Amino acid sequence: MTPLDELITRLSGVGEVITDPVRLRTYECDGLTYHRATPGVVTLPESAEQIAAIVRLCNEYGVPFVARGSGTGLSGGALPRTDGVLIVTSKMRRVLEIDLAARRAVVEPGVTNLAITEAVRDQGYYYAPDPSSQQICSIGGNVAENSGGAHCLKYGFTVNHVEACEIVTPDGDIVTLDRLDPGYDLLGAFIGSEGTLGVATKITVRLSRTPEAVMTVLAAFEDIERGGQAVSAIIAAGIVPAAIEMMDALAIEAAEAAVACAYPEGAGAVLIVELDGPEAEVAGQFEELRRICSGAFELRVAADPAERAAIWKGRKSAFAAVGRISPAYIVQDGVVPRTSLPEVLAGIDRLSAEFGIKVANVFHAGDGNLHPLVLFDDAEPGAGERAEAVSGRILDLCIESGGSITGEHGVGVDKSRYMPKMFSDDDLDTMQLVRCAFDPSNLSNPGKVFPTPRLCGEVPGVRKGVHPLVESGKAEQF
Ligand SMILES: Cc1cc2nc3c(=O)[nH]c(=O)nc-3n(C[C@H](O)[C@H](O)[C@H](O)COP(=O)(O)OP(=O)(O)OC[C@H]3O[C@@H](n4cnc5c(N)ncnc54)[C@H](O)[C@@H]3O)c2cc1C
Repeated sequence: MTPLDELITRLSGVGEVITDPVRLRTYECDGLTYHRATPGVVTLPESAEQIAAIVRLCNEYGVPFVARGSGTGLSGGALPRTDGVLIVTSKMRRVLEIDLAARRAVVEPGVTNLAITEAVRDQGYYYAPDPSSQQICSIGGNVAENSGGAHCLKYGFTVNHVEACEIVTPDGDIVTLDRLDPGYDLLGAFIGSEGTLGVATKITVRLSRTPEAVMTVLAAFEDIERGGQAVSAIIAAGIVPAAIEMMDALAIEAAEAAVACAYPEGAGAVLIVELDGPEAEVAGQFEELRRICSGAFELRVAADPAERAAIWKGRKSAFAAVGRISPAYIVQDGVVPRTSLPEVLAGIDRLSAEFGIKVANVFHAGDGNLHPLVLFDDAEPGAGERAEAVSGRILDLCIESGGSITGEHGVGVDKSRYMPKMFSDDDLDTMQLVRCAFDPSNLSNPGKVFPTPRLCGEVPGVRKGVHPLVESGKAEQF
């Protein structure tokens, strides 16, 4: 019997357990479907205590575990282990407490992002971070990925809206990390750690007041350069819109084919700008925006919530929509300084021509977060490899321009190989020290984020000798 087989015999009283090979296949990948692995066993716990019991068993048998929310991740973070336990939070969907006076809600990790807003909308509140997957992604997944969304330019990412997290640590203790805790910001370290520092079991989120006025504007430009210039000019004018999103001609074509969003015909780029806040402020900002966007050949202002939803429909469906114009595609997620947008987009065009691979561009333009959609035909020999090459070269462009290999989708398994391009050996070793402090046995989502996973206590391969932080007595190696 393997350690996993033995562990499975002990899995009682921890919620539903799935071992049927056919049902296990439901969980073999997340949104990054070209990485697949059938989990050794799937558990569907209903409480923190059950998760703690599962994690303690994993420790007893030395078996790795992976947390999974809704499986919409795009970097393979929830890719299971064939020799491990997948802990799925989809049965933990209760909104436990709403305290409007304190502007807080306490929820279980499987609650969907949108469900939080739905629970408080009638009272004039909402939960601000809004990934395009918000109808189905879980708040636990959002915490693990530090997820963003169209409105994060003005309001900040998940990390800015989480006040506390109850977690099961990788050795099976239940502890609460609170923003108000003195000392190191452990809550900050946990958010964005992609499941490598434990499992979130209860999350306290901040609620925001619904703004008095919202104005959604669609500006159509002849080409992407003019759209890009408008973005820079808006920010330079001191306007911080709730959102500035851009789509190029190919992305518009896909959205049109999928959801008939009726964007202006012949547009080389569309910009969606949303202004929100007090009525008078929005009206003033709109006048400025109209002046800045004078190069647009059409400016459309949503007259009511239905028109607003129609403008957003094309953008929110953009990832899935490219399925209408291409049999397969890679969703890339890189960041560039806003001022480098024109050069990087020109670089993407050059790569596209060099490799004979089309790239549709959709991006959170305000914060320079690109989502190039690299299109290919998986039936064509070599096309997948070329698309992968283009996708990797786009990340090189992002790094060269002073940006990052991920803006919001995380590193997961997909981008761990790019980490050394962005971080030095010392950086990576220091991150490993943090991971080892939480997870000395390397059981919590191992093999993700880091390019060369090492056991805690192992001397890093590339480094000869002890890490300087350990040597100076500032850090301890387990
Ligand atoms: C169409 C589409 C649009 C998207 N748009 C956006 C967007 O606009 N912005 C954005 O940021 N992302 C976006 N995403 C990516 C994805 O939706 C987010 O990363 C989301 O936060 C993942 O949530 P999930 O519940 O699906 O997590 P999963 O995919 O199940 O897991 C993601 C990671 O979180 C870990 N995890 C899950 N639950 C827990 C937990 N309770 N405790 C600890 N770790 C946990 C997993 O181990 C894994 O590493 C999009 C995805 C799709 C498919």
